[in-house]
Amino acid sequence: MPTAYRNYVDGEWIESRAGETFEVRNPADTGDIVGEFQASTSADTDAAVEAAVGAQTEWATTPGPERGNVLAETARILEEQRDELTETLAREEGKTLDEAGGEVQRAIDIFCYYAEKARDLGGTVKSPSGTDTELYTKREPLGTVALITPWNYPIAIPAWKLAPALAAGNTAVLKPASAAPTVARKLLGALDDAGLPDGVANYVTGSGSEVGGTLASHEDIDGVSFTGSTAVGTGVAQAAADDLTRVQCEMGGKNPTVVMPSADVAEAVDIVGAGAFGVTGQACTACSRAIVHEDVYDEFVAGIVDYAASIEIGPGLENPDMGPHVTQSELESTLEYVDIATEDGANLETGGRQPEGRAYEDGHYVEPAVVSGVTSDMRIAQEEVFGPVLAVLKVDSFEAGVDVANDVEYGLSASIVTQDLSEAHRFTEEIESGVAKVNEKTTGLELHVPFGGYKQSSTDTYREQGDAGLDFFTSTKTVYMN
Ligand code: NAD
Repeated sequence: MPTAYRNYVDGEWIESRAGETFEVRNPADTGDIVGEFQASTSADTDAAVEAAVGAQTEWATTPGPERGNVLAETARILEEQRDELTETLAREEGKTLDEAGGEVQRAIDIFCYYAEKARDLGGTVKSPSGTDTELYTKREPLGTVALITPWNYPIAIPAWKLAPALAAGNTAVLKPASAAPTVARKLLGALDDAGLPDGVANYVTGSGSEVGGTLASHEDIDGVSFTGSTAVGTGVAQAAADDLTRVQCEMGGKNPTVVMPSADVAEAVDIVGAGAFGVTGQACTACSRAIVHEDVYDEFVAGIVDYAASIEIGPGLENPDMGPHVTQSELESTLEYVDIATEDGANLETGGRQPEGRAYEDGHYVEPAVVSGVTSDMRIAQEEVFGPVLAVLKVDSFEAGVDVANDVEYGLSASIVTQDLSEAHRFTEEIESGVAKVNEKTTGLELHVPFGGYKQSSTDTYREQGDAGLDFFTSTKTVYMN
């Protein structure tokens, strides 16, 4: 019998009132059921919001250092559970053990970081115009927040929303993605074991429209922090805006790496390959466009084709180079984009099909694909694939490279490979994206600096992570004390 996981509401592990569940299966072996989860209703969601609202005042008035101690203890418990969490993540989402271990470590580090921040939420003292007045600002918690998360970083993204929310004194309802809710469930277990008071953090699984939709438009929710696709995020932002609820949406990407003639081409291949095919291309910051100067184009294409063709595919739990897609529908979407690319006139250089053989029959595997001869007007150059498909475009100058890089509706992460310092600086100035990197892959983020996108990648008012991660979850009050 698969493990039946429950919602976590007001400190209790409870079933949905409707009594319906859904299954989560191992993407590398679809006969393996990872767990059953509650298919919650709007009424279940309302109950979680009510619990969070009820717990808010007491949590907000709990001294910051005490809140920080709960976060630090959570990090310690996650550390103890590191191996189990890593294996569960690989089993439910398909990451390799190395990738899953890195993500679990990130969740631990995030809790350590915001445990410290809870002791130092900041505020400023200013010089008043009058002699008898003290003038200062302080941060207050926003209130009760909804956190809606995607499946592709199923513990790190819940952690990077929950930790700053709780550090700042908010209470929260987390709605994880249905493809990979298990490790987030375990994160809530760690918070419970760490002594988090009842109702402060709640966890409700179920469909996006039912649970997520209820949260996004809920009158008792003071802020909605969403990460997911641009299509869904746009609807979430609109639903929240109806009530003037504060909203933060971090969404899709079509991230470029520009390769200039001064680059060491072998190094450029490694940078692009790691960015494009790491985590099966299922990262919002994955490199999906290599924009290559004509002088090094042929050499680059030959190198990246070898790189992709040598990637070993297998079950995440066996720690190959690349695991499967998370679901059948994500796999089908990737295969469809490869067809669209070739129909539009691009050349499929390698991959882009399901690997053959019995080892692959029961999983959502795809061979990493390189399509060359892509032009910026093609759909493969414009739309987020969210799989291991790299489009290679040819340009004849730095200016053309930046123009093509900017010629998409997204603006999340971008990089350039060059040995020319002035090109490097110009790129960081001219690129329209929230993250700009030089001689580095588009993926990979430090947790103590802001992260977010430009254009359709983000609502762009608030950033996540670092100090900026607290801004969304706090309001600033200015005090005049005569
Ligand atoms: P998704 O948009 O399908 O779902 C995200 C979350 O929203 C899930 O929990 C889902 O159940 C919920 N949801 C679905 N419909 C909803 C609705 N009508 N109202 C409220 N909530 C709803 O995204 P996904 O497939 O889980 O994740 C992949 C996407 O996430 C990609 O587009 C990727 O670029 C993006 N992403 C962005 C970042 C970032 O920081 N910018 C990070 C990771 C992933």
